[in-house]
Amino acid sequence: MAKDWKLPRKGSCRCGALSFEVTVAPMMTAACHCRGCQKMASSAYSLTMMVPEDGFAVTRGEPVLGGLKGEEVQHFFCPSCLTWVFSKPKRLPGFVNLRSSMLDDTSDIAPFIETCTEDKLAFAETGAPRSFEKFPGPDDFGPLLHAFGEWAAR
Ligand SMILES: [Zn+2]
Ligand SMILES: [Zn+2]
Repeated sequence: MAKDWKLPRKGSCRCGALSFEVTVAPMMTAACHCRGCQKMASSAYSLTMMVPEDGFAVTRGEPVLGGLKGEEVQHFFCPSCLTWVFSKPKRLPGFVNLRSSMLDDTSDIAPFIETCTEDKLAFAETGAPRSFEKFPGPDDFGPLLHAFGEWAAR
């Protein structure tokens, strides 16, 4: 049986000036240990919920770009409190990587995968059942999405 994701889900930045809504089930939940995430999240790792772009909408506020403003990924922040709220990776067109700790209800955002464990801080534990030293390759992606569906419904 598919998991009930209690859609639609709402969330916001630290100050509430930027709000959003998720209307479709996530494809993946993840934690990333890379140095970029450690710095942007001001923490040991970032938390992600990957949702199709057409199932994600900003409902309040105008996000601003932050982080590394490179070609590969755009990072969107609240214009007022400057919280990192979501990203759009160019290598995954059509998807939004939402920082899942922004959701009002964080009871079920545990990561299924953790990435870039080569940069992991020694004490940092996420509980994710699947670990990758770097990012999973394109060939891993399909099987991982399938495995996530089964894991989330457990
Ligand atoms: Zn804010
Ligand atoms: Zn990262």
